[in-house]
Amino acid sequence: MTTAFRARAVALLAPAVVALVGCGQQAPKSEPAAVAEKKGEKAKKEDDHSDWWCAEQGIPEEECSMCSSKVAKAFKDKGDWCQEHDRAKSQCFVCDPSLKEKFAAKYRAKYGQEPPEPEAEKDGKGGS
Ligand SMILES: [Zn+2]
Ligand SMILES: [Zn+2]
Repeated sequence: MTTAFRARAVALLAPAVVALVGCGQQAPKSEPAAVAEKKGEKAKKEDDHSDWWCAEQGIPEEECSMCSSKVAKAFKDKGDWCQEHDRAKSQCFVCDPSLKEKFAAKYRAKYGQEPPEPEAEKDGKGGS
């Protein structure tokens, strides 16, 4: 009887100990960051031989209102323009971050992988 009771007590205690150790969360925290970094690097390299994707803006080049003045004009004519950020309103990730995902989905459909992280918003307007 006593042995059985002890075994039960240990069985009950074990999960508690695991839970306490699990609270540390040091290992899982650093891992995803490292993986994400690697992924981004790879995507960037693969983008080099493809002009289809504008890695800077995170938009297909042929639709990129920031790189093509022709495209920009077409958007302006439609009234689809963000004055504040100088790009098509429908491509302004600053005003609507969900748009980024919309274009990322196009990249994924074509290449079957995550698009490189756009760099344009890092320091806003580039001085020329
Ligand atoms: Zn572009
Ligand atoms: Zn905007």
